[in-house]
Amino acid sequence: MCDFEEFIFTCSHSTIRLKSYCHFARNDPNHQCFGVKKLRNVWDQDYECGDCMERNRRNAWAQAQAQRYNGGFGYGSNGYQGGQ
Ligand SMILES: [Zn+2]
Ligand SMILES: [Zn+2]
Repeated sequence: MCDFEEFIFTCSHSTIRLKSYCHFARNDPNHQCFGVKKLRNVWDQDYECGDCMERNRRNAWAQAQAQRYNGGFGYGSNGYQGGQ
C-alpha cells in the first residue's frame, strides 16, 4: 500500500507520483508492491502540465514566425501599390 499523490493541471491532464513506498515495497529489491495503491493527496495546479506548456510555447513561436512573414509580405505589396 504505497502512497501516491495526484497533480491535476488546468489542461485537465494529471500525473500521479509516488509519495512514499510502503513497508513491503521498501524491502523488495525491485520496490514492487503487491498491495493497493493509495492516493493520499490530490493537488489542483493552477498551470498546465509540462507537455502542454511546451506545445503552447512552440505554437506561439510558430505563430510569431507566421505573423512576421505575413507582415513583411503585406508591407511589400503596399509599397508596390503606393508606387503606382
Ligand atoms: Zn506498497
Ligand atoms: Zn496537459
